[in-house]
Amino acid sequence: MTPPRDDSELAAAASRAAALRREIDHHAYRYYALDAPEISDAAYDALVRELEGIETAWPKLVTPDSPTQRVGAPPSESFAPVRHANRMYSLDNAMTLEELDAWFDRLGPDVLERGCAFVAELKIDGSALALTYADGRLTRAATRGDGVTGEEITTNIRTVKSVPLRLREEARPAVAQATLFGDTAGAAGAWPVVEVRGEVFMPKASFERLNADQEEAGLAPFANPRNAAAGSVRQKDPAVTAARDLSTFMYQLGDPRPLGLTSQSAALAWMRTAGFRVNPDIEVCDTRERVKQFCLHAIERRHGLPYEIDGVVVKVDSFAMQDELGFTAKAPRWAIAFKFPPEEKTTVLREIRVQVGRTGALTPLAEFDPVLVAGSTIARATLHNADEVARKDLRVGDTIIVRKAGDVIPEVVGPVVGLRPAGAERWDMPACCPSCGSAVWRPPDEVVARCTNVACPAQRWERLGHWAGRGALDIEGLGYEIVGRLIDAGLVSDVSDFYTLDIGTLASLELGRVKKDGTPVSLGPVVATKLAATIDASRDRPLARVLFGLGIRHVGSTVSELLAREFRSLDALRAATEERIASTDGVGPVIAASVSEFLRNPDNIAVLERLRDRGVRLSDEGRVAAARPATLAGLTFVLTGGLERFTRETATEALKGLGAKVSGSVSAKTSFVVAGSDAGSKLAKALELGVPVLDEAALVRVIETGEPPVEAAR
Ligand code: NAD
Repeated sequence: MTPPRDDSELAAAASRAAALRREIDHHAYRYYALDAPEISDAAYDALVRELEGIETAWPKLVTPDSPTQRVGAPPSESFAPVRHANRMYSLDNAMTLEELDAWFDRLGPDVLERGCAFVAELKIDGSALALTYADGRLTRAATRGDGVTGEEITTNIRTVKSVPLRLREEARPAVAQATLFGDTAGAAGAWPVVEVRGEVFMPKASFERLNADQEEAGLAPFANPRNAAAGSVRQKDPAVTAARDLSTFMYQLGDPRPLGLTSQSAALAWMRTAGFRVNPDIEVCDTRERVKQFCLHAIERRHGLPYEIDGVVVKVDSFAMQDELGFTAKAPRWAIAFKFPPEEKTTVLREIRVQVGRTGALTPLAEFDPVLVAGSTIARATLHNADEVARKDLRVGDTIIVRKAGDVIPEVVGPVVGLRPAGAERWDMPACCPSCGSAVWRPPDEVVARCTNVACPAQRWERLGHWAGRGALDIEGLGYEIVGRLIDAGLVSDVSDFYTLDIGTLASLELGRVKKDGTPVSLGPVVATKLAATIDASRDRPLARVLFGLGIRHVGSTVSELLAREFRSLDALRAATEERIASTDGVGPVIAASVSEFLRNPDNIAVLERLRDRGVRLSDEGRVAAARPATLAGLTFVLTGGLERFTRETATEALKGLGAKVSGSVSAKTSFVVAGSDAGSKLAKALELGVPVLDEAALVRVIETGEPPVEAAR
């Protein structure tokens, strides 16, 4: 894409590039010099990519000191500098299979048509290492540094067991010697100076142990195995390096010519013979398809390997072809690093929108430029509450790092503060509801701010949708979209209105789409008939469902069950005092206050009256209690100590209702002892006999789900 050469755009690009360079330099220093990165590699790579994009679009913005033109970072002055005999390059990256294809294409038809083979190797996530052997003995070990000059770390590297101090004789190159009979035979020649390159790394298990030890010693843990390895080889005291469990995989020769080797695959075989640890997962691939398969397979195996890899390195096998292809300022043209799909990306935060929930809760939502993360495009993520926005200090206009938590839910990790546009302001929860303009109130001890208007349209939509939803009145076919349409059409404004809808009205409800001929799409008679029947059936739902469906604050499905069991009808609940409600097992004063307040509100009472008038049953009286299945049959429980949410009687009744036996004394036959506060001799007996002990939370779970306990509380 050619950008319009407009001066203001150029200025904007230049200022963004400068800001990116500053930010990238800062992170490169943290990473290479201090071994203490502040952001993930994926986030860092995303910043570099953005800078590369700007520099490609505006080549005159490329500066010689740009991080896109440099390798690593200058070596630390704490170590003796080592000038590399052959420059140590970085690698260009392909972030997708398409970019990998583009690299194949760049090699040119000439290379591909000559039957070029590729070597695919795992990209080991450690620290680059160059080992020099003179006369077959290790004389020097160096880091990559900036590629020209590295740091001397020989004494430290001598402690790493997989590094041979001497090359094996089998690998000594042969010299041709004339025999008496005029033919030639190989005889051992002198060792040339050999430079072997590879990666020093820390296996995952050793990293876990090291960090556990660090924590125990009150020291800061390492961010990842790569930084732990880099930090371990750059120690003042070799004894510290020796105590760290480091390993190596070697994969390259500084100069293969003196050894008479002509390909990468032959070089790898030679290194193995010479006594180096070479990764076994290496494949010589004849086609690009094979290379891609190797890459895809590596993604799958990645987490099962005992060491970290961050991609696959693909190299042209033939050294003659490598020579033809040569190098760019930073990397060989004959190799590419296929990087695994990043789990984090950067994007720009465009808006923090406030969503109004059914209980009036206001939730800030980040709206950002769409980005592809772990296989799908994301453009928004919840920010939970105002405290969370403040803690992360997110501001509109910020470049932000996003990822998917647990690989599913979009999440904003945080802003890249160094890229913040001038004048970006702190975000505050609005003082008025964005839907209805009413005052927003945040109770002193709560993190959630709320709209105070019960008639708020956004709340209405959520509340009506909730009534029809699962766990509530469960009206199949009445999802949020249809509910929204019904509200827009002025057909419903509170939950009682659902029970006034007839088939004809529903059938003609427009869905906001048009047919090919331009006429609006409506629900139609077939769907409408079905929907009317499910709405009708919902008139007979148990009281617990109705209570849950009303969306009273703090009244979830469990509390609804407890209230329904205790009061059996809405009238009885309405007649009860707040204290009486609070005394219900499992219901405390906070819930009771919320229920009472709801039932005192004249608007709510009017809705309940209309529900009754429109045939919704608001009572369980006369209903044959549906027996719960005896899922606890064969188990014996003993209750001891004080319980908060139950009396001994109600807990006993609930357990019995599920088929369990409840006994007064502990014996070897007891299945579980439920120990509340101040449990005494029965608990001691249980522990002595090895009877599993449950706490109250586990008991609540058993009673609610009807499932036998899975594990004993300790
Ligand atoms: P690179 O790590 O992407 O690739 C080059 C390196 O790959 C080589 O130098 C070599 O050490 C290594 N490698 C591993 N296996 C190899 C194999 N089989 N064959 C050849 N080489 C192999 O590039 P880089 O220039 O070393 O560093 C960039 C990396 O460092 C990126 O992953 C970047 O995210 C990370 N980084 C992160 C931060 C941060 O703040 N998180 C900062 C700077 C750099």
